[in-house]
Amino acid sequence: MNKNVKTFHGGIHPACDGKSLSNGVSVQRAPLLDKYRVVISENVGKPPKPVVEAGACVKKYQLIAAADGFVSANLHAPTSGRVTGIVEVPGAMGVPVQAIEIEADGADEAGELLPALDWRNCDVALLRKRVEEAGLVGMGGAAFPTHVKLSPPPEKKVDVLVLNGAECEPYLTADHRLMVEQPEAVLEGAAISARILGVTKIYIGVEINKADAIDALNAHAAEFGIEVVPLKVQYPQGSEKQLIFAITGRKVPAGGLPMDAGCVVQNVGTAAALADAVIRGIPLVERIVTVTGEVVAHPGNWLLKIGTPVIRVVEWAGGVTEEPGKLILGGPMMGFAQKSFDVTVTKNTSGILLLPRTVAVTYGSSPCIRCGRCVAGCPMNLVPCALGNAVEAERFDLAAQNHVMDCLECGSCAYVCPAHRPLVQHMRRAKAEIRKRKK
Ligand code: SF4
Ligand code: SF4
Repeated sequence: MNKNVKTFHGGIHPACDGKSLSNGVSVQRAPLLDKYRVVISENVGKPPKPVVEAGACVKKYQLIAAADGFVSANLHAPTSGRVTGIVEVPGAMGVPVQAIEIEADGADEAGELLPALDWRNCDVALLRKRVEEAGLVGMGGAAFPTHVKLSPPPEKKVDVLVLNGAECEPYLTADHRLMVEQPEAVLEGAAISARILGVTKIYIGVEINKADAIDALNAHAAEFGIEVVPLKVQYPQGSEKQLIFAITGRKVPAGGLPMDAGCVVQNVGTAAALADAVIRGIPLVERIVTVTGEVVAHPGNWLLKIGTPVIRVVEWAGGVTEEPGKLILGGPMMGFAQKSFDVTVTKNTSGILLLPRTVAVTYGSSPCIRCGRCVAGCPMNLVPCALGNAVEAERFDLAAQNHVMDCLECGSCAYVCPAHRPLVQHMRRAKAEIRKRKK
């Protein structure tokens, strides 16, 4: 391996990563629909409060739900039309959630945009406020409000911004296409974020299976003072702690956050959305989503409005060639399996993945054979087999002592386990029990 290609300890490399299905397909803009359902409680933190009532006419980009507290994020109308009310829709996490339903008028008429900001010279407080106004959240994972991430407490000395362009999840190519097609937006968004944070060292980590993205970024990186770092193709390279270690050599302490290692990590999609919000005054109402899987007729990458029903996206992709075995929002490792095609696209929907029945097989588990593969594969240096034993014996105290709370739920252990033990489910259960007992 080229010694300039960075990585971390542990992890896996899935034999088939499915990326070739869609990594060469340019982003297509979706047709306008007659109805959108914008999920209210999509971000980490408090859900925003709706500020529109049934019957209200809205313009595209108009505020429809206002952040309720600091750790909350605004929601804006993805198109112009009439609010029909607040409806219940299937949530990505398996429980029904509330959504603001908008009947589109077909005009897609934009309301007044926020004023453009001269980000190199304007007050930093204005930039931070803009990030908040635009409803930006982390688009690569848990939808954590971006203005909170860009406001570390004064006692935390952050000196590095790391942009996450790893996109290590199999099948997903949305970030890849964004970096190839809009490298300047990604880089400028990173530079603006760095100004907000007051840091000058900016890295963007990209796995080397995206050589065209690395080239596209390198063509403009110098003008923004950003270093593009090639990373080994290794899952979970895009996990914050692994990314920070691979690029800077710094370790986030157990139970700590990236800022405890002096870093803030931001997804490339979030950076591009941030550039839009600051330079063009556009709030976050759409994102790139990979629609893929062996049973999808025409896998690709789509620019979708927030609130688009998944079923319609699958239709635009030509439908399916055979009955799918599983629908997943996100990638196969950390995504969430869905029971319904009525789920809608949210700000953190990176992929719509349809796996064939032959791949989406549920294996029966058997006892541990002590092969140690899960230990070798764990990027957090945990001992998943022992943690699994503790959970099976309901010894959550033992699981806590053995650092189960540091588990990333990355699934590497379960992926390599020849006994097909449900290790990730065990880790999730242990974490939920420990949190419950702490309350
Ligand atoms: S124990 Fe957690 S962090 Fe380690 S491999 Fe398993 S899921 Fe990933
Ligand atoms: S990989 Fe599975 S069988 Fe092997 S030690 Fe871990 S839990 Fe046991």
